[in-house]
Amino acid sequence: MATAVTLIPGDGIGPEVVNAAVEVIEAAGVRLDWHRAAAGAGAVPTHGTPIPAATLASIRETKLALKGPLATPIGEGYRSVNVALRKEFDLYANVRPARSFAGVETRYTGVDLIVIRENTQGLYSGVEHFVDEEHSAAESISIITRKGSERIVEYAFQYAKSRGRRKVTLVHKANILKCTSGLFLETGRKVAARHAGIEFKELIVDNCAMQLVKNPNQFDVIVTTNLFGDILSDLTSGLIGGLGLTSGANIGVDAALFEAVHGTAPDIAGKGVANPSAVMLAGVMLLEHIGERTAADKLDTAIREAIASKEATTPDLGGSATSRMFTNAVLKRLR
Ligand code: NAD
Repeated sequence: MATAVTLIPGDGIGPEVVNAAVEVIEAAGVRLDWHRAAAGAGAVPTHGTPIPAATLASIRETKLALKGPLATPIGEGYRSVNVALRKEFDLYANVRPARSFAGVETRYTGVDLIVIRENTQGLYSGVEHFVDEEHSAAESISIITRKGSERIVEYAFQYAKSRGRRKVTLVHKANILKCTSGLFLETGRKVAARHAGIEFKELIVDNCAMQLVKNPNQFDVIVTTNLFGDILSDLTSGLIGGLGLTSGANIGVDAALFEAVHGTAPDIAGKGVANPSAVMLAGVMLLEHIGERTAADKLDTAIREAIASKEATTPDLGGSATSRMFTNAVLKRLR
């Protein structure tokens, strides 16, 4: 029976790149039962909300989603749809691989690392307020729990083990944030002690940023808290060609959501020139997650070869090809 997957085309370039991803996933030889669902600013006129109940019900049923970028409607009362989806399904692990692409000019070659970011706690817990009516000061509360730290570091070690990775680097700021980052580090050390076969390193976040820029090839799996992971994973995506080539997975116990990291690109929406690579690569992560390893490898290779060949390079990577032309270049390699 085909695996059911909720498909959220999203806003802006979302539908263009998501439809291209569906085409290449199917051409990789996997039949999925796509349940199309609305979310984002585009859902408001028809559903009255950017997160329709039917979309949540669909994800609850399929436990899997492939998602295009979403615009959060401007105005009072709308919280980020992406953050809301992460909270609703407790998608605690944000996984962002950064692997160099042949044919994409960057400062380094051979980068192959993964940032695993705690996705629900820390400074993004949403506990924030002004201290007085004059808004003369504001406070944001960072919440770190032992349980939350343990499950994300354990996830990082399991991820490393299952993929033959050798090293996990825990990134923190425990020298200053002694309670929150200190708890994350202390818990991480205990988890690491259970995984003697994998090298464990600790690094303070500012040093980590510098080391990533100087010598990214020393890193393998990085695990860190929400804010640090948000920043470092954009840094690492810059190392391999930028957000247009970066995919991410949001993993929970009961559900997983795969997405491109880029936004809705309103400047090029509807022009047919968006680069669909990131959503296609999110498709690779989805296939891996459901155990379709062969198809995942096949699709990953086809995307990488299409990029390397430069026969259909989209404008963001310096070419003049359309999304359709790039999709055809991937399809050709799958058939
Ligand atoms: P953006 O990623 O949409 O665009 C930044 C630049 O990158 C633009 O020049 C755009 O044309 C280009 N770009 C992005 N993706 C591309 C692709 N696939 N191919 C070619 N070029 C691409 O970022 P932004 O302008 O800051 O945000 C626009 C909207 O997207 C906002 O409403 C924001 O909230 C939303 N957003 C959503 C997500 C998400 O759903 N995951 C992520 C980021 C931003």
